[in-house]
Amino acid sequence: MKKLEVSAIEEGTVIDQIANKSTFKVANILNIQKIEQVVLIGFNLSSKKLGKKGIIKIGGKLLTQEEVNKISLIAPDATVNIIKGSEVVKKFTVDIPDSIEEFMKCFNPNCVSNHQKILSRFHVINKNPIRIRCHYCERHMCVDDIELV
Ligand SMILES: [Zn+2]
Repeated sequence: MKKLEVSAIEEGTVIDQIANKSTFKVANILNIQKIEQVVLIGFNLSSKKLGKKGIIKIGGKLLTQEEVNKISLIAPDATVNIIKGSEVVKKFTVDIPDSIEEFMKCFNPNCVSNHQKILSRFHVINKNPIRIRCHYCERHMCVDDIELV
C-alpha cells in the first residue's frame, strides 16, 4: 500500500496527511499551476489519523523552508516525503515555527502592518490548536483567520 502511494513519481515530493479541507490551499501555496512536471492531487482519501485526508505528489520539486512553514499553518499534520529513484529517502512532519514573518497577513484590518510598509510579524503562542499573536496589534488569530500571502 505504501509503495503504491508513492509509485507515481520517481523524483520529487509527496505531501501526505494533509487536512482534507486544506488540500487545495496547499496546492496554491506550492503554485502548482506553474510546475511543468507531473502533479497529482488526491483528496477525500481515507486516513486513520484524520478521517479524510488529501495528498499531493509533485515530480521534480523540493520544498523550500518557507513553503514547509506555510503548509504547517494550514495542514499541521502533513508529512513530507522526499522521493528519489521511486523510493522515500527522507520523511518528516511539518513543524509550526515559533514566529512568522512576512508571509502572513494580519486579520485586523486596522493593524499597522496592513497600512504601512513594514513586514508583518507574528508570534505562535500555541501550536495545537494553533493560536498566533500579531506583534504589532496583539490581535490573536486561530487557524481559520490565517491568510497567507
Ligand atoms: Zn496586527
